[in-house]
Amino acid sequence: MFDQDVTPDVVEFGPGDADLAVVCNVHGDEPTGARAIHRILRSSPEFERGVKFIVANPPASISHRRFLDVDMNRVFPGDPEADDRERRLAAQLLTETADCDTISFHTTHATHEPVAFVSEGNSRSLEIVSQLPITYVVNEASVVDGSFCSTGHVVSIEAGKVQQPNAVAKAEMLIRAFLDNEGALSEEPPMHAPVTNYFEIDDRVEKPSGDESYELLARNFERVEAGEAYAKSKEGFLLADEPFVPVLMSQSGYGEIFGYRGRKVGESVEDAKTAWLDDET
Ligand SMILES: [Zn+2]
Repeated sequence: MFDQDVTPDVVEFGPGDADLAVVCNVHGDEPTGARAIHRILRSSPEFERGVKFIVANPPASISHRRFLDVDMNRVFPGDPEADDRERRLAAQLLTETADCDTISFHTTHATHEPVAFVSEGNSRSLEIVSQLPITYVVNEASVVDGSFCSTGHVVSIEAGKVQQPNAVAKAEMLIRAFLDNEGALSEEPPMHAPVTNYFEIDDRVEKPSGDESYELLARNFERVEAGEAYAKSKEGFLLADEPFVPVLMSQSGYGEIFGYRGRKVGESVEDAKTAWLDDET
């Protein structure tokens, strides 16, 4: 099954050509975004602009696997002629979303609180994310290559923990906020946006090799000071050489790394623009 002709599943609602997109299942084992989309469509909303809802990787989703051939969120812009199915799907997804402001949903092992990812140098994705009720925004450009959000007007969101029902509710709230902000849905009452904190990541945090007994001590987005222990292994405590802010760190989310070391850039989109855009737009 799933031979050569796999494509993203796309449904379109609302008047005119769609210029907004909501994407789920870049990773096939993360059903949260799809469930949130289903909840919204089940309520038969009246869309005032064209919106595409896209399942990015249908064969991996049906198989409940993160991917079939290669991690799709590391191979953008993809290649329509590639043997790897995810490389072809990545290229097709980019074609589908080329004219769209886009949000894409994931889940994580690291944190309950939603985290948005953007790529440096893209003012539109910063504008989109600055209007969402989300506490943490991370620029991942210097550490992660080939992610969907590196390609353009795309915000990727970790909605919460895998298999946590409230991650679906958070994803639904964020999709509704996005569609409301962009004029595709009229929602009542308007969403309250908390303070948004902007971070950038600059390195991975490796796990101790050959040791399965390690324990993560750091908490995401809570600054670790120089000399402070961020994890424990059978060799002893792992101490920070320099202060950092833990981002998407977890005991078991990744094989080789705990997650990422970051630093805070500011608490306003202006701070982020100053840090991440070449010239003010
Ligand atoms: Zn994911």
